[in-house]
Parts: sequence; structure tokens; C-alpha cells
Amino acid sequence: MKYISTRGQSEPVDFLGACLAGLAPDGGLYIPEAYPQIDPAKPGEPYAHVAARVISAFAGDALTWDEVLGLCERAYSSFAHQSVTPLTQSGPANWLLELHHGPTLAFKDVAMQLIGQLYDLVLGKTGQRMTIMCATSGDTGGAAAAAFAGAKHADLVILHPFERVSPIQRLFMTTTGADNVLNLALETDFDECQTIVKSLFADRDFADRVSLSGVNSINWARIAAQTVYYATSQAALAGQQIRFIVPSGNMGDALAGYVAARCGMLPGGLDIVCAVNENDALLRLFEAGKMTKAQTVETPSPAMDISIPSNFERILFELSGRDSDAVRGVYERFKQAGEADLPETAKGRMSCSGIRVQSVSNADTLEEMKQFESETGWLICPHTAVGTRVARLSPKADVATVVLATASPAKFPETVKQATGREAGLPDFATGVTENEEVFERVEPTLAAVRARVEQLAR
Ligand SMILES: *Cc1c(COP(=O)(O)O)cnc(C)c1O
Repeated sequence: MKYISTRGQSEPVDFLGACLAGLAPDGGLYIPEAYPQIDPAKPGEPYAHVAARVISAFAGDALTWDEVLGLCERAYSSFAHQSVTPLTQSGPANWLLELHHGPTLAFKDVAMQLIGQLYDLVLGKTGQRMTIMCATSGDTGGAAAAAFAGAKHADLVILHPFERVSPIQRLFMTTTGADNVLNLALETDFDECQTIVKSLFADRDFADRVSLSGVNSINWARIAAQTVYYATSQAALAGQQIRFIVPSGNMGDALAGYVAARCGMLPGGLDIVCAVNENDALLRLFEAGKMTKAQTVETPSPAMDISIPSNFERILFELSGRDSDAVRGVYERFKQAGEADLPETAKGRMSCSGIRVQSVSNADTLEEMKQFESETGWLICPHTAVGTRVARLSPKADVATVVLATASPAKFPETVKQATGREAGLPDFATGVTENEEVFERVEPTLAAVRARVEQLAR
């Protein structure tokens, strides 16, 4: 199995190379040279077993079957539900795919728990030690902290904007008690944190010196891990045609559905609706065929407040017939001019790609949380509500509609209270975060200050 860059100017690498590198050296994203064909999940097949078949197919001969099965079993034993990502029926033809039973109550755990195990296995074999860096606006930092706390061969550095993440989100990253996790709070916004991380990666000297690695949502192992619940949903709803509605930000989750179909795990074909909030760059990409720069606006669903959906690059690569020159051209024009038209081939293929986009306003998101609660008695998180709103706006009786429930309502108690008047309490297994001691450091929001702190750690 080889992985190539969407921009065509990097050497192909194997699975582990693609995962440990994150971004390709030419600025593109890694994607398999050819999609492996993977048998659909069988009804009742254990989640970790399906995951092992998937990771094994993507890893090729980089890892043995026993190694992969072992790491998948360890990764998913940390989930509070036996089926890992259960489907719950919420209406005659409607289901919620609950992705929030992991340690930090959001779907990022599904991929991150696996990545934590994968890094430990691989680095343990090579004797290497790596420094993993991530900038977070909320959920990714917590999921990474839970996945890497106590890892034997990696240090994790998290950058978060000081006082701009929710209290619960902060607690999930600052209370692990692990001495290989360093939390840095920067008095700035998320974009600036992200820029500092990108600059550190671009500094090849520094990056080599501390063995820098990234686990953000463009990491191929995360995409691979997220294909698994599409396959298990198809197995659970055996024989039914499924429409997946995916609350989307960076589009990693929706891309995973596309990949599941390309690998043969969704025999019924692909039907995905990306549900976005008022940050609707994805809608403009699909409807106007144009990449434009927009200011990110604040919404009740902060994990989806993204104006440049990074995984779209992989979809563009496929829709333009794997034309890496065309992809590179789009991103170069976008960088220079702040906007770019998509290639005609890609525009032509969009309408039959099996992927559509629909946007939901802030007011409708809150209204949906309330309406859903009064109909079912259940609380849902604001991201999930963007998805169930899209399902409500376009009902379909002849297919099973599966909305991905991406976080627990307990992670957004303020919004839940505002929308429904109810308290969303933490499940018992997660209450530790409110009791353990918080550890984080304030650091000046400059490249130099962060670099100095990370060098100190890596020594
Ligand atoms: C990250 C996240 C999303 C968006 O997922 P993408 O893969 O970035 O599209 C949606 N909901 C929640 C709760 C998230 O944490």
C-alpha cells in the first residue's frame, strides 16, 4: 500500500510514513494510490474486528494482523458502550449513530484512541520518541490528551486559546495528570495557535530535532478509523438503503463515508449530506464551484466553525479525476487571490458524487434542540442538532436516515440549558475531570516562546 500526495510533488510513502508525517512535504494530503477492497461488516461482527480489517487493509504489510487486532481491541476497550458506536432509533425511518461514548464524549475519540495505540506500537518497534503537536479550538485537544496520556514513546503538546474554550473542553485536556502531556494556554485566538503549529512544522530543522508529528484531522489514520462506523451501521441496518447526515467542519467525517463506499463497504452506494452551520464554505464549494475566503462566525456548534474545510482537498482530488496539477493550481490561486474556481471536471462530477451540503442557521439549531427534546425526551448536542435539522427539512420515507451524533450534550451544558432549559449532566465515567487537578501553563503567544518551551520538553 502506497500513499501519494494530492499535489503530486512528494514521493509516495507507506501507511506509517503517511500517518506519522500528517501533511505531505509539498503541502498536499496523503491519499491511497488505489483504494483497497474491504468486505462489508457482518451483522454482529465486533467493532474492534471490523476496525482491524480496515486498518489492516490500509496498512498493507506494514503491520501484522495480530498487531492490528491487538491495538484495535485496546483502543475500543476505553468506550463506555459495548458496541462502541451504537445506533439508536429516533423515528420511523430515523436513527442516531452515537459516536460520543469515548473518554472525552466526542467523536474525535473514535479515531484518536486508535491513533494513540498505533503510535505507541510503531514507535515502540523503532525505538523512536516523537513530539506530537496540536492546536485545538476545543474537542481535538481533549481527545488527543486522553489518547496519549501516559504513552511511553511520545510527548504531546497542546496549544489552546486562553479562556476561549469551554470549561468542560478545557478540563478534558488539563486533568489527565500525565507528565508527557504539556498544555499551553496562549492569550490569542485559535487561528493564531494553528499558525504557530504550522510554522513549527515548516521549520524543518526544528521539526527534525524534536521529531515533530501531527494528529489533526488530515491524518490518514483518522480518516481510516472513521470509515468503520459507516460499515457497522450498514451491517446493523442490513439490506436497507441508508442516507447519512454528517455534521461537518473540516469534512474528515464525511470524507470517511466516501472512502468507506470506495472500498466497497457500503454496497448500497453513497448518499451523504454534509450538515454545516452558518460557516457554509462547503456549501459554496458544492453549489457555486468556488473556493472563497470567509470570516469565521461564531455559532452554537463551535467544533464546526471552520471556513476552510481541509479535507475537501481529497474530495477535489477525486472529483477532478486525480489530477494533482489541477488541485495544486486551485490552492495556489486561492492562496494568491483569496478565491479560486474549481476545475470544470470537478464541478461536473459534484452533482453525481453522492455528497450534498445543507446549511442550518444558529436560530434553527437551538430551535431543533428544543423540538427534538420535546418529541423524544432526549437531549442532543448542538452539532448533532445541525444534522437532525437537515433530516427534518428533507424527510425521506423510503430510506433509513442516519444522523451522526458527534458529541454528548454534556459537553455543551450552557447551550443545552439555553435551548431546552434542562441540565445535561456528565455520565458517571467522566466526572473525574471535575475532581482532578488542572495543569496548564500560560505562554506568550509567539512562535519563539512556544518553540523554546517545546525544545525544553524534547530534551
Ligand atoms: C470535529 C467535530 C465535528 C466536525 O467534524 P469534521 O470531521 O471536522 O467535519 C462535528 N461535531 C463535533 C462535536 C466535532 O468535535
